[in-house]
Amino acid sequence: MIRIKTPQITNTFLRYTKINTTSIASATHLPSSDNQYKLAQLVANDLKIAGCTDIDIQENAITIISLDANAESLPSIVFFAHLDTAPDHRQDTHAQVIKNYQGHNINFKENTEILSIVDTPELLNYIGQDIIITDGTSLLGADDKAAIAASVEAIKYMLVHPEFKHGAIKLILLPDEEIGIRGAKALDVEALNADFGICLDCCEIGEYVIENWYAGDAKISFTGVTAHPMSAKDKLINALTMANDFINQLPEKERPEHTENRQGYFWPHKLTGDTASAKLEIAIRDFDEKKYKERKDLLESITTSINKKYNKERVIIEQSDTYSNVKTGLDKQPEILRYVEHAMNNLGIIKKPLIMRGGYDGSVITPKGLTTVNIFTGAHNFHSTKEFLPCDSLRMASEMLLEIVSLSTVSYNHE
Ligand SMILES: [Zn+2]
Repeated sequence: MIRIKTPQITNTFLRYTKINTTSIASATHLPSSDNQYKLAQLVANDLKIAGCTDIDIQENAITIISLDANAESLPSIVFFAHLDTAPDHRQDTHAQVIKNYQGHNINFKENTEILSIVDTPELLNYIGQDIIITDGTSLLGADDKAAIAASVEAIKYMLVHPEFKHGAIKLILLPDEEIGIRGAKALDVEALNADFGICLDCCEIGEYVIENWYAGDAKISFTGVTAHPMSAKDKLINALTMANDFINQLPEKERPEHTENRQGYFWPHKLTGDTASAKLEIAIRDFDEKKYKERKDLLESITTSINKKYNKERVIIEQSDTYSNVKTGLDKQPEILRYVEHAMNNLGIIKKPLIMRGGYDGSVITPKGLTTVNIFTGAHNFHSTKEFLPCDSLRMASEMLLEIVSLSTVSYNHE
């Protein structure tokens, strides 16, 4: 059964790509760019015209659109999509639709780059379909405007089909996912009083996240003692040497360049300073909660050992947790992945479970008490000027939302 029409959802998506919502990492306010607020207004207006009456756009651009349940005792579900696009490329998006793609290399209109089947062999999966690309100078922004379009069209469907039973449904638009999941951090999750959430923030059709890693950051400062080098013996204590000493005590093979799959790492990614003082930043990642904690403990013990060596507190460490593994929540509510997988079976989609070496809004929202799975938008080549979105995959992302809602109204006790 086709509930979502491809031309309509394609058109909705194309309209949203016209607002440039690049986030700005150096900004201190939320949203980091005003256009995120503008896009929230456009989406809210679309749903107002479609008949939504309960719309709340907050000053920080967090937007909550609520649809009442039309039957009793059904689960309450939240769809999440982020408003911003990655700061990797800042230009306005000029999206174009390639009709009936024939498996060829695609020349961009505006530059010499090509979207080739050698670099992106997945293109060949979409022969005969319509695909959306850019002009080669910007991101497409399907990450995450495809999610917005898919959610909007699913809600519009529910508004005109009262026979489609559902619990309370919310669409929440979040700012600044790409620059530290800031919107999700600011969201009052408890107030939502929902049963589970669905982010659409994965790539190709069929992908869904079964696990992502724990992420944290360590900020370490080193205080040295300066002396003129001509008479520095036994006086000078070089902060940079201390920082180097710290890095050398990390396990050599546990770095991003040596790890893959479910392996965690330490990533010293920023070092600034001089002899007098230095600052080091280390990203900590692990899928296993115990191992993640052990990594943080190791950083504490290296700090202690260097301080002991100098008999003074020359090293100060501050550690913070950024997000968590969604698996903890998914294990507690196994019905969520069952809905996702069952929905894919019903829609004839090949399942591609994903262990995500990264985070998304749901990895901040889940530990706050609302388990939020992550499913595909249909797009490829996120954060690249070669980002592309097959129109039918976009339609299927929207169909997935409806199918999950529909399955959630059926009891699974008899399976
Ligand atoms: Zn995203």
